[in-house]
Amino acid sequence: MTSRPRPVGIDLGTTNSAIAWVGRDGRTAMVPNSDGEILTPSVVCFQDAEVVVGKEARKATAVEPQRVAQWVKRDMGAPVYTRPIQGEYLPPEVIQACILRKLKADLAASLGDDCRVVITVPAYFDEPRRKATADAGEMAGIDVLDIVNEPTAAALAFGESIGYLAPGGAVRDELTVLIYDLGGGTFDVTLLRMAPGDIQALATDGDVRLGGHDWDMRLVDHVARAFRREHGLDPRDDPASMSRLMDSAVDAKHALSARSRTTLRVDHAGKSLDLPVTRAQFDEMTADLLERTIHTTRQVLSDIGMEWRHVDRLLLVGGSTRMPRVVERLRELSGLEPERSVNPDEAVARGAALFAQYLLTRGSTTPVDDTEAPTGFTVTNVTAHSLGVEGIDQATLRRTNVKLIRRNAPLPAKHTEKFVTKAENQRSIAIQILQGENAAPEECTPIGRTSIDNLPAGLPKGWPVEVTFEYEANGRLKVEAVVPGTHRAVTLELERSVGLSDDGLGQWKEIVASGAGFDAFEAMIAEALEEKIEPLPQSEIAAAPTKTESIASSPAAPIRSAPTPFRSAPTPLGASANLAAAIEEPSVPSEPEPARPVAKLDEPVENWMMPAEAPPASEKASTRRRSPRWIVGLVVYVTSGLAGAGLAYLLLSRLRPEQFPMPW
Ligand code: ADP
Ligand code: MG
Repeated sequence: MTSRPRPVGIDLGTTNSAIAWVGRDGRTAMVPNSDGEILTPSVVCFQDAEVVVGKEARKATAVEPQRVAQWVKRDMGAPVYTRPIQGEYLPPEVIQACILRKLKADLAASLGDDCRVVITVPAYFDEPRRKATADAGEMAGIDVLDIVNEPTAAALAFGESIGYLAPGGAVRDELTVLIYDLGGGTFDVTLLRMAPGDIQALATDGDVRLGGHDWDMRLVDHVARAFRREHGLDPRDDPASMSRLMDSAVDAKHALSARSRTTLRVDHAGKSLDLPVTRAQFDEMTADLLERTIHTTRQVLSDIGMEWRHVDRLLLVGGSTRMPRVVERLRELSGLEPERSVNPDEAVARGAALFAQYLLTRGSTTPVDDTEAPTGFTVTNVTAHSLGVEGIDQATLRRTNVKLIRRNAPLPAKHTEKFVTKAENQRSIAIQILQGENAAPEECTPIGRTSIDNLPAGLPKGWPVEVTFEYEANGRLKVEAVVPGTHRAVTLELERSVGLSDDGLGQWKEIVASGAGFDAFEAMIAEALEEKIEPLPQSEIAAAPTKTESIASSPAAPIRSAPTPFRSAPTPLGASANLAAAIEEPSVPSEPEPARPVAKLDEPVENWMMPAEAPPASEKASTRRRSPRWIVGLVVYVTSGLAGAGLAYLLLSRLRPEQFPMPW
């Protein structure tokens, strides 16, 4: 026996989660949950005295929907989960932590406590979402080794199944593999190149709002319309009938994967209807959904100038790839035989376990265990999103996203871009780091900012500023800005712009880990409301411009006056260069700012939550001891979050690829 920790992979899915580990023989195996099942529904039901996760929680949806949280993964990165639980808004990572706690308990029951875990995320997850996922793991008391992209994990599992992981294995050609992952709530497509012992991501894309659930809803609508024609009533109007209808739609969908026809039964208001549905009908009513995935898949290929003839293998991942039409359509389209050499429910968890194994054994020169199978392989990821700096275009005076590292760039990546100061005698420069493809900064996600202060007096306008981004293979981004000739430089310590503070994390962790019920969560929220929320450090705005450009300096402005990644008030383009100063603080005077004192970074500016004029909308708010400022902030967050989610959806559906976690 060795006391070596066990390498474990967790697929924390939108719909279902799964756990795998790598045994002493070097092979992966699934870890069943307490019901003996491989998949645990990612659903949480908050009872007053306990938190229930999985199948039982899903059943509670019909009876106590206000206590149930599901599809929480879609909200990761936002301040709160979209729907209130018993009137309270919880951070999504706290809910995910509850799921992970349950998985950890199942893990401990099978393998003991000494496990080190890799958790998977979609390739298009941005930094705040990755960090939120890692935080959820920590709150659950899990020893998180790393976060890895789902398609990369799926490729690893595939690599295991065909013997591509060991560099010493049989000599084989390089393979270009397309991974088509259609789950319950999301769709992901990734192109990878695999050689024995090496996996390299080439491109990835996805749709955060497309999955098996949309197929379910087509059946629901179809049957509800038939019921209305028959009885003049709509079962969708009643939550209990709707919930039953959804269950039968899922059952019917699954049945249609095995048979060519089935019957859906609806009971509502004392009336019932049995409606036969054929697979052909189902395929027809969902054809447009499938075409959306096909469009994205084509896009991924064309983005990097590839065609189907360049693809060697087409792998299916995710429960929804069990639908026969998906397989048929992909076969027609690609001329390849879509394969499932690894169970589509298990591939991601198995691959994550292999990655955990790789991380645990990497660098160890002596084999820890004689029976250990070779695990040498390398994984090269690409950046999921472009990373840039906000600057001002000299010609148009528009604020612009100056990209330093482009999406799909292989990691590690490093790039230096030259900027210039915008004003004469500029005393400070703020550098806003952006993530996203759009040229307009307000369409991108701000992921951090820093400033160079105390520049010597008298620098002429147009003084050079060099900004370097270094994106390491482990996904950490280092930003360095240098002002030549002044001995002034700054290295960025990126700060999460949304999410829980370390303090908050610790407190939530206590509650999650204790296994307490909703009462404890509610008490924690009430307590948090009483505490003054920690002030943020102040920085300056100053935009960093392009080569052809100038840098805006500006008055001090609050860093987080709006929740990111959702920006609530895009600033119109086309105004003067000084507009940069107005991004967060429209009320400040817009003249360049050399005469003002340089902002102190440690000077408190403003609370995390944004003050706003609108009264609180939450039903429970008025009965609680919430500070109005907080409530309003919350309302603004939720509203802007929803607006942002739409925006994020649009963006994400066009964004690309990958990297490992950004642990700030
Ligand atoms: P996620 O990655 O979102 O957690 P999964 O990969 O577990 O999701 O896929 C869940 C989805 O797969 C659900 O929408 C479920 O209905 C669907 N699914 C599972 N089995 C089948 C089947 N036999 N036929 C059609 N859809 C299926
Ligand atoms: Mg999945």
